[in-house]
Order: sequence, then structure tokens, then C-alpha cells
Amino acid sequence: MHELSVALSIIEGVMEESERRGGLQVAAVHLKLGPLSGVSKDALLFSYDLACNDTPLEGSHLVIEEVPAVLYCPTCEAERRPPSLQDFFCPASPDHIPQVLHGRELEISALELQG
Ligand SMILES: [Zn+2]
Repeated sequence: MHELSVALSIIEGVMEESERRGGLQVAAVHLKLGPLSGVSKDALLFSYDLACNDTPLEGSHLVIEEVPAVLYCPTCEAERRPPSLQDFFCPASPDHIPQVLHGRELEISALELQG
């Protein structure tokens, strides 16, 4: 399962960070997740709990903040929301393929540590 390896790499990164801060217990990990990351939220939550077993992160919570997909359209010079995740075009000037600004996120945004 793809999400399990994602969960393992999150845990690895969090453990390094908590060690850098003096080995504090991690209460929660906040993660930004975009719909284009290719990671399923539910599967990641499940995998995280599984992967935390027998690690210093056991009992911690993964808090996922879902980030919407946002495009930048150079024609309109504006940020646009795509009509759907299958239709990546600007609703106002559909001939142009805009740049993806947000939606690929899979990044830790914050850690909650217990002193
Ligand atoms: Zn446009």
C-alpha cells in the first residue's frame, strides 16, 4: 500500500524533528494534503496509526488539513479553481492550460509537542 510508505516517511521525519527539539513527546502531527498528491486521506490516517505502533509516536494523532487545488491562469493573471480534478483549465479562458499553484501538497505543517 502506497500510503503506508508515505506514513513511514512522515514518522521518520517527525522523529528526527522531535529529537532535534530535545526528544519531546509528539502529541499530534499536522499535515497539508492536496487532492493531486495521489494520497488518500483515509488510507493515510489508517496507515499512520498502524505505522506508529511500537515507535515513540505511538498514540499520537495525524491531523490532515485538506488543501484545495488552485491554478494560476497567465491569461487572466488570476488564481482559479479548476472545474473538477479531471478538468484542469481556467473556467474563464479554457483554451489555456494554467499552472498548478496548490493541490500537490504532502507536507508537515506543524507538530504538537508535549513538554
Ligand atoms: Zn483564465
